[in-house]
Amino acid sequence: APFPFALQGTVVKGYGRGSKQLGIPTANLSDEAIDALVSGLETGVYYGWTQIGELGSEVYPMVMSLGWNPYFKNEKRSAEVHIIHEFPEDFYNTPIRVLVLGFIRPEQNYPSLDALIRDIKTDVEVAKQSLARKHYAEAKEHTLFFN
Ligand code: ADP
Ligand code: MG
Repeated sequence: APFPFALQGTVVKGYGRGSKQLGIPTANLSDEAIDALVSGLETGVYYGWTQIGELGSEVYPMVMSLGWNPYFKNEKRSAEVHIIHEFPEDFYNTPIRVLVLGFIRPEQNYPSLDALIRDIKTDVEVAKQSLARKHYAEAKEHTLFFN
């Protein structure tokens, strides 16, 4: 993929798959955020930086799951962003900007919920480690987040 690439849209209601109950809430990106650019990308888990709300506000590390959207008979992509930060409340209908810097792993089926959660925790560690490297850390200052 042509890293880095940017996705911009709003946080929409998801499919109620209970990510939050698992301790890994995912901000689902609105449809227009994911169109053209993403249509050719491999499904799986990506990492990078994200910002919600106003330009110039805090930028957080994130892992993003790119899959197929069941609402569109699996003909369109869906993108869900787990932000590596604890928020005091939900932020539906809020603008979100995502700078995708790299690919972590392809999508997988899991024998158990535990196995899935363990893998996501690994993804979070991989993302943190990668984003700490100079080249990726600098991307936090990308113009996407300022204007
Ligand atoms: P949904 O199916 O509606 O996407 P989730 O269980 O995935 O529900 O929860 C996602 C929502 O949780 C987000 O839309 C956002 O408002 C909120 N949220 C709170 N903390 C986070 C976080 N760290 N990362 C992503 N979303 C979060
Ligand atoms: Mg979600």
